[in-house]
Order: sequence, then C-alpha cells, then structure tokens
Amino acid sequence: MSATTPAYAELYDVPQEHKDFVALVRQLAQEQIAPRSAEIDATAEYPWDVRKLLAENDVLALPFAEEFGGMGTGTLMLQMAVEEIAKVDASCALILMVQELGSLPIQLFGSQELKERFLPRCATGEWSPAFALSEPEAGSDPASMRTHAELDEATGEWVINGQKNWITNAGIADFYVVFAKTDREANRITAFVVEKDREGFDPGQLEHKLGIKGSPTGQPSFTDVRVPQENVIGEVGRGLGVALGTLEHTRLGAAAQAVGIAQGAIDYALAYAKERIAFGKPIAQLPSIQDKLAVMQTKTAAARELLYKACALADRKDPQAPKYSSMAKLFASDSAMEVTVEAVQVLGGYGYVKEYPVERYMRDAKITQIYEGTNEIQRLVIARQMLR
Ligand SMILES: Cc1cc2nc3c(=O)[nH]c(=O)nc-3n(C[C@H](O)[C@H](O)[C@H](O)COP(=O)(O)OP(=O)(O)OC[C@H]3O[C@@H](n4cnc5c(N)ncnc54)[C@H](O)[C@@H]3O)c2cc1C
Repeated sequence: MSATTPAYAELYDVPQEHKDFVALVRQLAQEQIAPRSAEIDATAEYPWDVRKLLAENDVLALPFAEEFGGMGTGTLMLQMAVEEIAKVDASCALILMVQELGSLPIQLFGSQELKERFLPRCATGEWSPAFALSEPEAGSDPASMRTHAELDEATGEWVINGQKNWITNAGIADFYVVFAKTDREANRITAFVVEKDREGFDPGQLEHKLGIKGSPTGQPSFTDVRVPQENVIGEVGRGLGVALGTLEHTRLGAAAQAVGIAQGAIDYALAYAKERIAFGKPIAQLPSIQDKLAVMQTKTAAARELLYKACALADRKDPQAPKYSSMAKLFASDSAMEVTVEAVQVLGGYGYVKEYPVERYMRDAKITQIYEGTNEIQRLVIARQMLR
C-alpha cells in the first residue's frame, strides 16, 4: 500500500452518530417511501410528500455545511443516505441528489452573498435547485453549448438566451444554475443563477421516460432573461470549470443511487427465491439461482466498497478523488444494470410485470449509466488521469 493510499478502515470508519442517522433514513425509506414507490412510478408525479418528509427529517440538509444550516457531515454520509433511499425508490433518491447537484456550484465557487442568499433555504428543503448544463446538441461535449449570455453595458445585467435539455427538477426548481457562453470566439462559458420567476424563463415540457419517472426532466428555455452581476457564480469565463468541478463530486450520487437500486433488487429477489416453489422446493435451493444471487451480491458489495472509498477520498480532498469518483460511478452503474436484469430473471415471468418491483429497478438502473457523464466518458476520464 502506497503512502498516499491509507488503509480502508482509516478511510471510512463511520462514527456511531452517522450510523444512527443512516438508520433513521433507512427507516423513513422502508416505512414511508417504499409504500409509495409503485404509485410514484405509475403516475410519474413529483412526490412532494416525500420531499417534505426528507426536509422535515434534515435529510435534505446533508449536502450543506453547518454554517449554512446544513448537517456538515460530509460526502460519505450524504451518499449513504442516497443509497438507503434508492434501495426503495430511485426517483426519491434524486430529490436528495439534485439538492446537492444544483447547489454545489454555489457552495464550491459562489460569492459569500450567493451562499447566504441560496444555501440556507436549500438546507431546510424550502428551495429546490436545478443544474442546467446539457442542451439538445450538447450533452457529453458541453463546450459546444449554444446558450449564450451578453453583458448589457447600460444596466450592468447579463442577458441570457438559449435552450437546455434533460434538466432534472425542471418545473419544480426555485432556481437554476445555468451555463452559458459569454465569449463565443474564445469559447468561454460562465455559470449564472437564474431564479424561476425571471421574465423570459420557461420551464418547458417534461419528458416521458423509461425510468425514474417521479423525477421531472425538462427543457427549460431562456428568452432575454436578465440577471444581475451578483448572480454570476465564480469568475466570468470560468463556468466550464464550475460545471466539471461540480460533477466530479456529484457523480458519487449516481454511484450511490446505483448501489441502492442494486441492493434493493437483490433483497427483493432473495426473499422471492426463498418463497417461490418449483419442482417441489424453493428456487433458492437451485444452484443456478444461488449462483446468480451470489454474483449479484458480490458485484454490489464491490461497488459499495469503491463508492465509500471514493467518498472518503473526496472528503479528504485527496488528489486521487476525481479518478475514484469516476471509477465508482462507472462500476456501480454497470453493476446495477447487470444485477437488476438478473433480478428480473430470478423472478421469471413475475419479474416482467408491474405487480412486482424488480422491472422498475431495472428501468431505473439504466439512467445511472447515462447521466452525470456517460460511462463512455467516465472511461475516458479515468484513462486520462492514469496517463498523467
Ligand atoms: C433523466 C435524465 C436526467 C438528466 N439530468 C440532467 C441535469 O439535471 N442537468 C444536466 O445538465 N443534464 C442532465 N442530463 C443530461 C445527461 O447528463 C446527458 O444525457 C449525458 O451527458 C449524455 O449527453 P447526450 O444525451 O447528449 O448524449 P451524447 O453526448 O450525444 O452521447 C451519445 C452517445 O455517444 C457517446 N459519446 C459521446 N461522446 C463520446 C466520446 N468522446 N467518446 C466515447 N463515447 C462518446 C456517449 O457516451 C453516448 O453513448 C440528464 C439526462 C437524463 C436522461
């Protein structure tokens, strides 16, 4: 073991008070969110009741520092909570994930004034943020975005025009972190906060998706939307760094969501296999079913270890943290996809119908390979860091 890679026990020894909080999140998830999951998926409605539950129990305060009313308990604690919620409902896990994604640009790069204006009301759960980077023609390659902002010298305001795509929390967010070109010749991007009530802002239509149906995904547009200088996050022209610096952390949320989805599917498939009788005995006694369950649990346990290590490295601001964050996202999401397909197989025909939750787990797992940077992009990022 190299001097820069501490033993794992040192890395993520979880204090008892954090374990107690995770136990509370697990209880809320199992007792109050799980009974709602099938309905949330069927109706594709944003679960305001679950959001309120998470806010009232300080779960939405997890991504924030104590000075802004947050829990101040760090990355590992946050992602353990995401995992517990995703075990029963991946859409509801996104409520917590986007509470981080849409506010982290301000936390990491924003002025003290922006922090004081936005973070405390996010920590209480009163406000929901959104992170608006992707566009119809610019997903994996955000530098090719078309949304642009120009400075009106007369008023000192920035005027934003353009269209975003695939934006989680569209329509329900109180403010959007919007990335726009501010120098097309030099290809420079700037990050802005746009409040939902700014004139010229339209939250747009929502998508009809394969999974995570309780999480709204939309196409907000900006027509001559004016924001003051104070709404610039970080430096003018440094917005791509704001976006990538944020995603470096928040893709751990996608990894935690994937681990939770996988574990939820395993728990259900295992319980089912113990009850389902074929050829006179429970299918759990069949070697081929045992083989599936063993591989499913092994992959998920390995993904969880990688995730927790990546979280611990992020909390220590270790130089290896970005690489581990990408590796955790890549491995956990690919594992979740494989595990949930196998969970459907364990249930046979019952796995393929909506009366049983495993087909939902399989549909929900797919997005973890796509957002927060596709897995193809994660492979590029990991290799690039290895070659440095
Ligand atoms: C449900 C949902 C929620 C989302 N939420 C948000 C959000 O809140 N905010 C936000 O900004 N975005 C969000 N996204 C957007 C998401 O991050 C993008 O979809 C993703 O980055 C991929 O971009 P794209 O869809 O344009 O695909 P493309 O970039 O067009 O990629 C298409 C395919 O080509 C591959 N590819 C592209 N470039 C390369 C390369 N250089 N090397 C190898 N393969 C490559 C990709 O991996 C992919 O397989 C969301 C998407 C979805 C579906």
